[in-house]
Amino acid sequence: MEYKKFGNTYVVRMDKGEEIVSTLKKFCQQQNIRLGSIKGIGAVDKATIGLFKTDEKKYYSTELNGSYEITSLAGNISTMNGEVYLHLHINLSDEHYKTYGGHLNSATISATGEILIEAIDGMVDREFNDNVGLNLLKFD
Ligand code: FE
Repeated sequence: MEYKKFGNTYVVRMDKGEEIVSTLKKFCQQQNIRLGSIKGIGAVDKATIGLFKTDEKKYYSTELNGSYEITSLAGNISTMNGEVYLHLHINLSDEHYKTYGGHLNSATISATGEILIEAIDGMVDREFNDNVGLNLLKFD
């Protein structure tokens, strides 16, 4: 990946073979970005997306392999127990222009990824909520 910073905004290019979630997490750690938003487009050839079934409080996931456009990557950066925590969702379109979407577990760039990260000067932590079954944003 390569990037350039303008004010609080990072313009990022991710390259073929890079895994989106782990690469972005490492980048946020290196740049000390603890709060912010992420949006992007690009192309992937492999992705694992998830769905949280609220009634079961359980995550399900499926793997996609093929040619996909990232029609939308959206998410946020926060922290949990002081560590960088990414929450990303993605929409992917296939060769028939049909889209799949869900919580993004992992995806591998096949051509390029064009991602904007807006850093916010602040920090919001997360905490597991037993009632919902998810790590929710926590405001003290
Ligand atoms: Fe999610």
